[in-house]
Amino acid sequence: MEIRMKRDSLSLRRAMPQFEYICADSPEEAACCWREAEREGKIPLWYAGGYQLLDQIDIYEKEYTLIDIKKLCSFVRLDSDRLYIGAGATLTQIKDSGIFPLMGDVVGEIADHTARCRITLGGSVYGDGRREAALPLLLCGAEVRTFKEGYRDERFTGKRLNHGELALMFAIERKYLSLPFIRIRQAGQQEEGFLSAAALRSQEGVRIAIAGEPGPPVRLKEVEDIFESGLTDKETAKLCIGRLKEDILVGGQDMGRRKQLLQNTFERIGRWNQGEEI
Ligand SMILES: Cc1cc2nc3c(=O)[nH]c(=O)nc-3n(C[C@H](O)[C@H](O)[C@H](O)COP(=O)(O)OP(=O)(O)OC[C@H]3O[C@@H](n4cnc5c(N)ncnc54)[C@H](O)[C@@H]3O)c2cc1C
Repeated sequence: MEIRMKRDSLSLRRAMPQFEYICADSPEEAACCWREAEREGKIPLWYAGGYQLLDQIDIYEKEYTLIDIKKLCSFVRLDSDRLYIGAGATLTQIKDSGIFPLMGDVVGEIADHTARCRITLGGSVYGDGRREAALPLLLCGAEVRTFKEGYRDERFTGKRLNHGELALMFAIERKYLSLPFIRIRQAGQQEEGFLSAAALRSQEGVRIAIAGEPGPPVRLKEVEDIFESGLTDKETAKLCIGRLKEDILVGGQDMGRRKQLLQNTFERIGRWNQGEEI
């Protein structure tokens, strides 16, 4: 395949490694540029909003190829069955569409207004931050479409993509878009951790997902049925904590603090599920 390499090589200092920027016109071209960069001994990176990336790379030490993917997938589109959100859509674009209130609420709390105009859904979900934007995708059983050597569609689980794999879009069934939900965000004092949770009430019952630092975002299927047993919020929370595996409870933070954040979260979801105003 012939690839038009639109290279804007910026030689920022004579002795400095070259810094390369390529704006891809197709997933095939993006993947090709990735492989080519690796063959040339450079470090290829998907460039979306650039908010995290530009902070992380050290252009004085290494040669990077930034492959801009925004042209490929910056849409928010609703059809009769599904909502499709491109991985390159910005958080502002998603919120302003007003199509999916839960997603709008979650992404509307990330960073500040200026940053949200540039941060993308793909960067938020696959970057190294708190990855809160993954919560609605987990709750709705979204599908993610990716590209590496070809297209791949699979259920979104919050797992990292393979090396060199590019997320293109997320698909959410329309029936989930207007279900009742609750958002709970608890910030500790800096090093004491952060827990972000969302719950959705579907026909099958309550669904819960959490994100925080540093664990990956996950859906907590193992506790969801407890919310259907008619227990008090405190009893519900206690049972939930008892069912969680150690990696969720510890999450890299002080276990006592983490447990407390989780307990508060479950109690509030319990009260919300019983119809209390939260
Ligand atoms: C001021 C500030 C406050 C923030 N607050 C929060 C917060 O409260 N909650 C929260 O969850 N996050 C928060 N973040 C984190 C933010 O969501 C991430 O920094 C996010 O990665 C930025 O997205 P971006 O589009 O700028 O990605 P980029 O910086 O362009 O890329 C980030 C990473 O994601 C990868 N990537 C990007 N797009 C794709 C794709 N389509 N497929 C595969 N990989 C891809 C890139 O290769 C790179 O490794 C905050 C960030 C800032 C700057």
